[in-house]
Amino acid sequence: MKITIVAGARPNFIKIAPIIKAIEKKQSEGIDITYRLVHTGQHYDKNLSDTFFEELNIPHPNANLEVKSGTQAEQTGAIMVAFEKELQQHPCDLVLVVGDVNSTMACAIVAKKSHIKVTHVEAGIRSGDMSMPEEINRIVTDSITDYFFTTSTTASENLLKYGANPNDIHFVGNVMIDTLTQNLNRISAPVFWDEFGLTTGNYIVLTLHRPANVDEAQSLLTLLQGIDALAGEKKIIFPVHPRTKAILGDRSLALKNTLMVEPQGYLNFMFLVKNSFAVITDSGGISEETTVLGVPCFTMRNNTERPETQTIGTNTLVGTSIENLKKLFGDFLKDGPKPAGIPELWDGKASERIIEILLQK
Ligand code: UDP
Repeated sequence: MKITIVAGARPNFIKIAPIIKAIEKKQSEGIDITYRLVHTGQHYDKNLSDTFFEELNIPHPNANLEVKSGTQAEQTGAIMVAFEKELQQHPCDLVLVVGDVNSTMACAIVAKKSHIKVTHVEAGIRSGDMSMPEEINRIVTDSITDYFFTTSTTASENLLKYGANPNDIHFVGNVMIDTLTQNLNRISAPVFWDEFGLTTGNYIVLTLHRPANVDEAQSLLTLLQGIDALAGEKKIIFPVHPRTKAILGDRSLALKNTLMVEPQGYLNFMFLVKNSFAVITDSGGISEETTVLGVPCFTMRNNTERPETQTIGTNTLVGTSIENLKKLFGDFLKDGPKPAGIPELWDGKASERIIEILLQK
């Protein structure tokens, strides 16, 4: 079996790493399975791309489509044009896409139109919020996927509602958690740990990059100032995403507790998260990782496509207003963290299950 694996953005790299390891394990057992890794170039900053390849031992991509930034349509179109050529030059049995970025959708469309089977890892999750580009990418991708791999029974049920064939839906667990499990003993403190006087539990990790939170400069500032004031004695470590950095420009923010740092590599970032007092974020992936690490997480969004992080895990859905955050964070300080568990099959073995199932197709 010849698989082309597509990855374009930071969360994709984290998701493909254990899938590649699972394939290589099968190869070492003499099983006939090969892969070709295609990087679309959607994320190209060193600290959003190369660092993850190095730290997670992901092999150098066989091809880089180098599409870089652009509007939604420019980026999607550029990926489709380049990936069509890639598939013509390097035919395969199956294209595997992960997550919900533009590369996921663009490459799924090209593969399907080239009569190649499409596999979607992290299929079926839905926020119900069509203002998010990711939600459109999820719906389009799943509408043409042949083999669905899901992280939850809710995601599988969503696919059934959309009319997917039950035989093609496989609830296997979470590849993001495979990476976490495989690397937990490798995480390490960032260089600024001592310099900033960080100790376990004396800081909050903050990440914000979703358009709804960062694209309007004034509301972003209000949010950052509110979070800074909320922290009390705690410091706030804020790895600033390039999108957020571009909006902030060179404004002076006058924040007392907030320390802005570059986007962190995976091993430093997971160390920061694991040892933090709490996380405030608008990321989906981070709400999964905090769930498994048992770290309280406050999500600055009105909805989540990962409801199990809330019903089972440590995630609290805040909305986007600082007032709501103040109230919910205050409740947490008063009442302590809510009891939390780990969702079914988030056990670090999802990738092995995926490859096992694909080999039977
Ligand atoms: N991440 C990281 N360094 C950072 C911020 C995030 O390694 O400075 C990791 C994080 O642990 C998670 C992934 O990047 O695994 C999430 O990426 P992002 O928030 O960009 O995407 P989303 O999950 O919202 O799609």
